[in-house]
Amino acid sequence: MKIILMGGPGAGKGTQANPLVERFNFPHISTGDMFRAAIKEGTALGLKAKSFMDAGGLVPDEVTIGIVAERLAQPDCAEGFLLDGFPRTLAQGSALASILDKLGMALDGVINIEVDEAVLIPRLTGRRICRKCGSSYHMVFNKPEQEGVCGQCGGELYQRTDDNVETAQNRLNVYNSQTEPLINFYQEQGLLKRINGDQPIDKVFADIMKALG
Ligand code: ADP
Ligand code: ADP
Ligand code: ZN
Repeated sequence: MKIILMGGPGAGKGTQANPLVERFNFPHISTGDMFRAAIKEGTALGLKAKSFMDAGGLVPDEVTIGIVAERLAQPDCAEGFLLDGFPRTLAQGSALASILDKLGMALDGVINIEVDEAVLIPRLTGRRICRKCGSSYHMVFNKPEQEGVCGQCGGELYQRTDDNVETAQNRLNVYNSQTEPLINFYQEQGLLKRINGDQPIDKVFADIMKALG
């Protein structure tokens, strides 16, 4: 299964990635996670990405497309993959099409998790992430069983520096102007599957599974 998970910041992409990976056993390719790992390791990629991420803007296309092209060519992606947070611009969408073409691959579907903007900001500001495995929690909507501790792996939970109100609003604006045009792009290709993301996490997952047939 070769899928893209789309949706605004805080729509629930990372949250749905977990059960999808369990089900399909494919690599979870999150460009946001890749950039955060690079920043933590202090690599050249991390240095390039940091200022854009801190401001809630997008990392330049040429940087982002390069790391995804490299990742998709790895042997573990041959049978399938889950792209989370990529593509985010029309240029990334067309680049992905040619990358997949060269690899002789085709997408099975594009899941668009739809959530009203008014719901997204509180989701972002209350989000907590596991330092070890990257699982997403929420202070109110999706509390861990034990405060501050990941239920999946026991790791410590932290708040992303870009999950403050101001940066969250910037990311929403960027989403509306840069990423939303991709919805039409995939709709026209007959790949788009629209999912109501303002439902309990399990129900969103069930709807995604139904949409994937
Ligand atoms: P994304 O990866 O799309 O930015 P996340 O999966 O990290 O979004 O989810 C954003 C926040 O919203 C997290 O705190 C998560 O726990 C919470 N969340 C995710 N899905 C739901 C849902 N269906 N209902 C309520 N809260 C949710
Ligand atoms: P969210 O879960 O809130 O949607 P991500 O973890 O996917 O956020 O991304 C965090 C940040 O990483 C983005 O605000 C952006 O700066 C950068 N980023 C992630 N994916 C991309 C991409 N495909 N193109 C450009 N920048 C990206
Ligand atoms: Zn964890």
